[in-house]
Amino acid sequence: MDIQIILSVLAEMRQFRLRDHWTRQQLETHQADALRSLRDYAYAHSPFYQHLTGDERYLGRYWVNATSGSSGHPGIFLFNRAEWITVLASFARAREWGGIKLDLTHRVKTATIASTTPFHMSTRVNATAHSWWMPEMRLAASEPKDSIVERLNAWQPEVLIAYASMMRILADEQLAGRLQIRPRAVLTSSELLTEETRRRIVQAWGERLFNQYAATESGSLAAECDHHQGMHLMEDLVIFEVVDQDNRPVPPGAYGDKLLITVLFNHSQPLIRYELSDSARLAIDPCPSGHPFALIDAIQGRVEDVLSFPGTAGKVVNVHPLVFSRIMDTLPVSGWQVIQEVDGLRVLLSGVRGEFEDEMLAETLRQALLQQGAIVPRVEVQRVESIPKTAAGKAPLIKSNLSQSSQMSGATDSGGNVKEA
Ligand SMILES: [Zn+2]
Repeated sequence: MDIQIILSVLAEMRQFRLRDHWTRQQLETHQADALRSLRDYAYAHSPFYQHLTGDERYLGRYWVNATSGSSGHPGIFLFNRAEWITVLASFARAREWGGIKLDLTHRVKTATIASTTPFHMSTRVNATAHSWWMPEMRLAASEPKDSIVERLNAWQPEVLIAYASMMRILADEQLAGRLQIRPRAVLTSSELLTEETRRRIVQAWGERLFNQYAATESGSLAAECDHHQGMHLMEDLVIFEVVDQDNRPVPPGAYGDKLLITVLFNHSQPLIRYELSDSARLAIDPCPSGHPFALIDAIQGRVEDVLSFPGTAGKVVNVHPLVFSRIMDTLPVSGWQVIQEVDGLRVLLSGVRGEFEDEMLAETLRQALLQQGAIVPRVEVQRVESIPKTAAGKAPLIKSNLSQSSQMSGATDSGGNVKEA
């Protein structure tokens, strides 16, 4: 256990707290300084960026052109000691915005249900923080539900952390009376949090759900404050651009096709206008918290979650995850998954509690696809014990088995906001 790292994270958190009260002007000055320093360093030391300093322009002034790193191929991301401290502090900040302040005198009992794969970021963060954020109970998302419920009941965590799909299952368990815990904060990350999932979690534990958006490339990128208006972008650490397919800025109130991030604090592996395939929307109204950090009020999944179908008009039709989640989320089930296969759609349902006919559901989905202009595929509904999880323990809502590359993407990084390399 490295006490120096702990003390450094605490020192960094003191800095972070001051920044919550910055003006927008102070934030922008900080960004400009950090960006200048990052650019100078990258161009002086990185063969990759030296190669790209030709004619391409970044921010209208500097030309840079990087290939996408989130196209389904695993990436490896490095941080030196100081940078890793910032990553740790970014996660601590997300907890703190959720009302769980980090200090050495009050240790908070935390239960995390996630991947236990050693090279995943959440595991790495935990490994460094171990015995300090402790007492922490870490459960594999792949563990049987009943065993997770039993252990949580025995442990009574103050903070509960899980992927959205797992949190929904646990909320249902709480509402059914089998799970009986009273966490002060419930933190979700790394999967699409649908409105219905949020509603159930709030019903189970009250208004203490804090969603977080994180990536292996950078640590925590955005987190919810106690006004629950969306997630604040950590713009002192990362510059965000919500853009369309052609990298043109998309204004607040509209969904972009992707996000470009410039990680200001990482000089070891500079990422400048690095593409994340998440479709996010900047909020129009500011948050009453007064943070200088911009808000994203919705993330509607990743480009990889958009399924393509042959269209009735002869063109390919792209169907967004929302088309499915609007229908699927109304069902009395604990989990669902829509899988596109060569011969049609397979729809998995788990934890079915109420009465409904599978054929009615299939017909509703066919109608929705028809409305989108798609040639309606075969739709098959299957009730299963549980939704199969990926190696990382996630249960993506939408999955395509059509191509090898999307299968690879599914195995490493399914439907999540955390790109776990
Ligand atoms: Zn706020």
